[in-house]
Amino acid sequence: MYIVNMVQVTEVIAKSILTPQKFGSLAEAYDFSLNPYAGCQFACSYCYVPKFPASRNEVTWGSWVQVKMNAPQLIRKERALVFGSRIFFSSATDPYQYLELKYQLSRACLNELLLYKPAKLTMHTRSHLILKDLDLLKGFGSALSVGVSITSDDEEIIRKFEPKAPALARRLELLNELQKAGINTFISLAPLLPHNPESLVEKLSPFLNGMNKFWMDRMHWPEVNTKPELLQEFEEFFADQHYERQIKRTKELLIARGLKANP
Ligand code: SF4
Repeated sequence: MYIVNMVQVTEVIAKSILTPQKFGSLAEAYDFSLNPYAGCQFACSYCYVPKFPASRNEVTWGSWVQVKMNAPQLIRKERALVFGSRIFFSSATDPYQYLELKYQLSRACLNELLLYKPAKLTMHTRSHLILKDLDLLKGFGSALSVGVSITSDDEEIIRKFEPKAPALARRLELLNELQKAGINTFISLAPLLPHNPESLVEKLSPFLNGMNKFWMDRMHWPEVNTKPELLQEFEEFFADQHYERQIKRTKELLIARGLKANP
């Protein structure tokens, strides 16, 4: 174990890498999730992952990461499962957090997946670091889509709730680069943080013609929130009726632009 930027990093040997999706929000559309890391440096205060027993740790969420050193080898070992399957990469970590620069683990996993041809591969990230793997991503053709998480139009809000994740401008730039490269994209507005619906959709506007769907969800699980004081500070925004109205308005604006919700 070593510490980098106040994050405890442990290199581990995992027992398996493709997690069957039998229950929960991914079960209908995916056969497996793939998480090359456990824990996440982006430290989003609302993250739902620590509610799962396997992700509990005596150290605060966002302050530890396990690097699954054998993830690519496990994909090779489990390759019979990959062919024709639907894979969500990643559901419980960001595959392009900063440690990826050192370990190149998501890249190595993509290299393996390309060989064994999943029918559907969805990458999900807040990070422009995925662009380093554009050469591999292009190889998946129409089987691939990349979801970019955008949770507010206000950078100050994003910094408060997602203190270590890339800035909004980098995420918009990421959407631009992915679309220029011909990669299928969608936006993930989950959870919607305090925002102005019109301004948010305006900022997303240049990219909406190049996609056909979005994912939207509200804030859940206050019991694992690492900054409950923010829920207090923005109590008015998160008040049930107000929050529902903001979500509805943002959803309507996106649907009016021809996008489908939560496919
Ligand atoms: S990037 Fe995703 S996995 Fe990482 S802390 Fe944020 S919500 Fe959790």
